[in-house]
Parts: sequence; structure tokens; C-alpha cells
Amino acid sequence: MKWMKALALAAICALSVVTLAGCGGQSADNGGKKVLKVGSSIDFAPFEFQDEGQKDYQGFDMDLIRAIGKELGYEVEVSNIPFDGLIPAMQNKTMDVAISGMTINDERKQNVLFSDPYYQAGLTMVVRDDEQAIQKFTDLKGHKVAVQIGTTSAEEVKKLEGVEVHEFNTPADCFTELKARGVDAVVNDRPVNDYYIQKSGATGVKALPERLTAEDYGIAMAKDNTELQQKINEALKKLKDNGEYDKIFAKWFGESK
Ligand code: GLN
Repeated sequence: MKWMKALALAAICALSVVTLAGCGGQSADNGGKKVLKVGSSIDFAPFEFQDEGQKDYQGFDMDLIRAIGKELGYEVEVSNIPFDGLIPAMQNKTMDVAISGMTINDERKQNVLFSDPYYQAGLTMVVRDDEQAIQKFTDLKGHKVAVQIGTTSAEEVKKLEGVEVHEFNTPADCFTELKARGVDAVVNDRPVNDYYIQKSGATGVKALPERLTAEDYGIAMAKDNTELQQKINEALKKLKDNGEYDKIFAKWFGESK
């Protein structure tokens, strides 16, 4: 009799472990609504940023992930996480997905899964208006360059010979340092550099046309979450087919793809 009780207890425990596990992540039940926990580094206009006095995070990525969430029947909950903390957040499953202008590359693919590509970017540089010496990436030799920690910019600039790399937490910190003459150039993603120059009214600096790389952005998730990867890819495809993606694109980049 005693062992039967023990067995029943073990069965209940096993069941509650399963139920608890089922409560985490994208299957979370929040007052009847399923929640998709999204991590993003809110420092990357026009993909993710927060205007003063605005409650909601805005940008291309924010609109896209909300549209994907809607398609999948999830409520989207975005947490602001530093860029170099996003992949760890997928690995320890504190977040379901990361959308943060994140470039798909082989190194990251060892640690996370990516959705299909959703935006084509690449690296360019920003220099001061009066800069004469730097016009091309090869001119960076012997100069100080600011990059954001944990990004493809940091990785690529470190490969260039004779460049003194200064790493900062956000692109805004990089631009501040450029203006303060602490560095001579900022290497960062092209659409973010262009937006900074054209839309945020930056003065005294210019973006140079040469591109160091071509990169695709993807939405990242845990390595074993193939089910979510498939759902997200389906939703992305649907949004591309039904014109919703083009609308979001036009809203932030002024032209449809
Ligand atoms: N696309 C770059 C990367 O993935 C930069 C992303 C970012 O700073 N948000 O490394």
C-alpha cells in the first residue's frame, strides 16, 4: 500500500514538472493569452528604439515581430537586453526569440537557430565632416575606430590590419566618441548609420558609401526550438505574400521592397 502511495506521488510530481515546463516560454499562458517573450537591444534606430516620452518600443523590428505575433496568436512582450546578452538569453531560455538587427552568421548558428532572412544590411562607416584621411576602409589603418560590443562590426574591424578598435555598449556611445574626437570613425550597420545622419538630425558627421560586408538579419531562437522556427518562417512568408511586410518596410525606409 505504502509503495502504491509513493508511486502515485511520483506520478503527480512528474506531471506537475511537465505542466510547469509547459508554462515557460512561448507557450506561456498569461490570463488566457499566449505570450512570445522577445529580447531586443533597444539602441538601434530605425530597427528598435524608444523616443523620449514614448512608452512603447518602436522601429521596423518591433512592427515586424508584433505582426508575426499577431499571425501566430501570441501576445508580444519585448524586453530590452544588451546586444551581447541576447544569444545567452536564447540559450538559457529566458527569452523565446531575439529580434535586434541581428546578422545571421555561422558562428552564431552554432548557438542559436535563425529564421529565414528578413532584411539585407551590411557595414559602412561614419566619419567627421572635416575628415580628409579616411575615405575607404583601407584608410582606417593607423586610426582609432569605434564599434559596438558583440557585433559583426567589432568582429570585422578587428580583422583589419593596424586599426585601434574601441568597443562601446551602444552605437550612440560610438557616435558620441566620434564627435568628441576620441575616435576617427564608427563602423556600424548601413541602415542605422544612414538613419542617424538623415533622420536624427546628426550634424558634423557623414556616412561613407563603401560597404565592408553584405549581411542578412534573422530572428534568433533556442537551438532546439525548430517548431517555433518553422512557425516564424511561415508567418514571415505570409506577411511577405500579403503585403504587410512591404507596408512595414515602407513605413521605416520610405520605399517598398
Ligand atoms: N548586425 C550587427 C550584428 O548582428 C549589429 C546588430 C546590433 O547592433 N543590433 O552584429
